[in-house]
Amino acid sequence: MRLRSASLLSLAFMLSAAAVACGGADVAARESAIVAPPGEFDAAAALEYVRKQVAFGPRIPGTAAHRAMGDWLVAELRRRADTVVVQEWVHTTADGQRLPMRNVLARFRREAANRVLYLAHWDTRPISDRETDPALAARPVPGANDGGSGVAILLGVADALKKSPSAVGVDLLFVDGEDWGSFDTGTDVLIGSKYFAEHLPDADYRPVFGVLWDMVGDSIPVFEQEAYSVQAAPEVVQRVWLTAQRLGHGAVFSSRAGIEITDDHLPLHAVGLRVINVIDLDYPWHHRTGDTPDKVSAKTLGIVGSVAIALIRDL
Ligand SMILES: [Zn+2]
Repeated sequence: MRLRSASLLSLAFMLSAAAVACGGADVAARESAIVAPPGEFDAAAALEYVRKQVAFGPRIPGTAAHRAMGDWLVAELRRRADTVVVQEWVHTTADGQRLPMRNVLARFRREAANRVLYLAHWDTRPISDRETDPALAARPVPGANDGGSGVAILLGVADALKKSPSAVGVDLLFVDGEDWGSFDTGTDVLIGSKYFAEHLPDADYRPVFGVLWDMVGDSIPVFEQEAYSVQAAPEVVQRVWLTAQRLGHGAVFSSRAGIEITDDHLPLHAVGLRVINVIDLDYPWHHRTGDTPDKVSAKTLGIVGSVAIALIRDL
């Protein structure tokens, strides 16, 4: 279910500005057809944020790397946001481990009723369970794309808002514990987003729309319309995809219906927040040891970041 079909890839390229016959096109040629937009979002800085995160080591809850990354994140955001709210708690796993958890919420124009919520998970997976070799499967995921890319988008947005404040309120939420446990059984995953849903920052917290940015750095990006997002908040899917098309990224933000993906938007749906998931699961290093910064593209980060910023400026 994760493999992109050849026909879809062809369609995406027929729709792209560079409309070339792509039968034998190699990866580099296809990637070069995607032009990163100039503008407020600094794609090179975003790629540096990915490298910085990976350099801490795997951000597995309970480890020194996780603590150091969390401290860095809070410090970086305090330099950019009006208000930084840190939610700290201990999560007890199904097998009795006690994990220190931290969600970080960076708020811009806290008083504004008209708000946007962006979120990404900042933890990384303790095991590479998509590896077939058991020795590799036991290793942690480096989390350049899975974790790192979404955080980099949010930090790049924070930089842009620091330089040029928005007319509307913006909340950047970094959730912990997304990737700890089993998605098959739903055990000890989405920990931070569940906690946030139960501890919203205001009693009447209701952003106009929200976007979860996850795995948004692949060098050949295609974002299909994730099925739970379409079911729960179709108007938000429309808003995001139309904005991407207007910026010339209709080939990257495909109008094709995607599969259902269990991710941090689901606990937010459960409390009525209109949040969608922008995700490209078609990434060969997903939950593998090869999820390293060389697989993440500044061009892709630039495209996604420009859409994220345009959505704020347009609201
Ligand atoms: Zn993951």
